[in-house]
Amino acid sequence: MHHAVYPGSFDPVTNGHMDIIRRASKMFDHLTVAVAYNYNKPAGCFTAEERVSLLRRCTADMPNVSVDICEGLLADYVRRIGAGVVVKGLRAISDFEQEFQQALTNKKLNPDMETVFISSDVEYMYLSSSMVKQVCALGGNVSDFVPAVVKEEIIDRIQNKT
Ligand code: ADP
Repeated sequence: MHHAVYPGSFDPVTNGHMDIIRRASKMFDHLTVAVAYNYNKPAGCFTAEERVSLLRRCTADMPNVSVDICEGLLADYVRRIGAGVVVKGLRAISDFEQEFQQALTNKKLNPDMETVFISSDVEYMYLSSSMVKQVCALGGNVSDFVPAVVKEEIIDRIQNKT
């Protein structure tokens, strides 16, 4: 069985992430979307549990996709759950250096795992969670950027400050 992990901050999940999830779910028997702690982005808008809950609602129609929290090293997590592949989305060349460095580090830490890069759909190349939060904070419409359930929650969190 081909089991892959798609890790990220997902603070919150965007349509760009959803596109990668949908495409990766067709490439592997099972896909685990793993909300991982990123030391470069400590303070999030949503807690890890809230991100998981949003991801579960957004992937409810995909039976071979599950959502989990990844604590500790990704390389160890992948080994622990018996997955062999890590999926990453690439938006532009600017993503590449950082992602390549991470892939090489993970390979060193867990030689059994492979990192597979999926190129972003051109429609989502510019999209990031931080851009969505910025637009929302300034009162912009985020309908085209995130799934409907995320839109409601992000407006509540950022504009209504709940
Ligand atoms: P991280 O904190 O690891 O950057 P993100 O939640 O920002 O986490 O992104 C998780 C993964 O999804 C990364 O591989 C990132 O390159 C990819 N990704 C983010 N936004 C998009 C997008 N719009 N299109 C394709 N891939 C994306």
